[in-house]
Amino acid sequence: MINLTEQQLERYSRHILLKDVGVEGQERIMKSRILIIGAGGLGAPAALYLAAAGVGVLGIVDSDSVELSNLQRQIIHFTTDLKKSKVLSAAEKIKLLNPDVLVDLYNERVTATNIRQIIRSYDFVIDGTDNFAAKFLINDACVMEKIPFSHGGILRFTGQTMTVVPGQSACYRCVFSAPPPKNAVPSCSQAGVLGAIAGMLGTIQAAEALKFVAKIGKLLENSLLTFDALKMDFRKITLHKRSDCPVCGENPYITELHDEEQPVCDLKKESNKMTVITKKVAEKIVEHARACAPIEACGYLAGDNHVISEHIPLTNADSSTEHFSLVPAEQFEAVRTIRSKGLKLLAVYHSHPVTPARPSEEDIRLAFDPDLSYVIVSLAQIEPSIRSFRIRDGKAEEELVIIGEGGPL
Ligand SMILES: [Zn+2]
Ligand SMILES: [Zn+2]
Repeated sequence: MINLTEQQLERYSRHILLKDVGVEGQERIMKSRILIIGAGGLGAPAALYLAAAGVGVLGIVDSDSVELSNLQRQIIHFTTDLKKSKVLSAAEKIKLLNPDVLVDLYNERVTATNIRQIIRSYDFVIDGTDNFAAKFLINDACVMEKIPFSHGGILRFTGQTMTVVPGQSACYRCVFSAPPPKNAVPSCSQAGVLGAIAGMLGTIQAAEALKFVAKIGKLLENSLLTFDALKMDFRKITLHKRSDCPVCGENPYITELHDEEQPVCDLKKESNKMTVITKKVAEKIVEHARACAPIEACGYLAGDNHVISEHIPLTNADSSTEHFSLVPAEQFEAVRTIRSKGLKLLAVYHSHPVTPARPSEEDIRLAFDPDLSYVIVSLAQIEPSIRSFRIRDGKAEEELVIIGEGGPL
């Protein structure tokens, strides 16, 4: 028990007034230890709000120094801090804002060697990094150390975030199985970002950390919140913990950490490489695949705005267990149906009754439209798996598939 002083009662009065927080919740916040990895666009607002909230110990990890181009969004650093280390600059503001907060500084980058040691003593981690390699590293380390964390990524006018409670909810790798190839994704330094987007996302992450340590509300678990600030569209996509996840699944094969060379910014791909398949459609594809097995099932998938919401089963003219071909008359009819509903043809799907959900050489050879997604459902394992690819110039590139109740909030 902490006995709050008169001053603390006043400083935190707007928390204490909240029925869900109260003195008890505030005391929990004051006893908590929260680590922020990256004192940049996301870490800066998160650190300020967590300091203001009276978090007991705030750890800050960053190896960079403050540069002029940072100041447009990294609001914990001021013009007078140029060339100063970011951790020091952040620590000074935190102390000025709230002398009660103890600050642990790590003037280094997280690596496979040091990360588990660094995160181990914290209750909650905020991922404020700007590259995929770090994001996967943080995910894997937090899963291994069983430390809950908030993932966040921003690009241009968009942001995405999810909270992971290891052992309980989907992890980053359940959703994005591996980093994209180097340079496949523009970084913030190449693509730009509206400064206030960093604030929008960093404060969501701070709110998740405070909810967790104060034990209030419902965390953003098994959900990916994405927003596009140009339209102010917010979307929450339901996620599922995967039993075959390489790090948090039943038989994980990632059991130790490795550093990956991938200095790129976040958001897996441009949003057109992300496909959401509604749960209903995913179930129908699996049903169709099972009904046709051992013959391959095939069909069209339609929808709008990267969300597949419609399933049109077609006949496999080959009646084969290894390939499929479409019947032209059926194809035309299906396209007409799709158009009449005001939707777009987004994908061709087919099943692999006994092989994994990867395009065969035949699939790659026969793919006819680089703008369509090729969705493959595999029944090879107990749990059916659905993956999606873009096939272009004889090469298949996997794209992100999210199965969930995608839709505007
Ligand atoms: Zn996982
Ligand atoms: Zn195939």
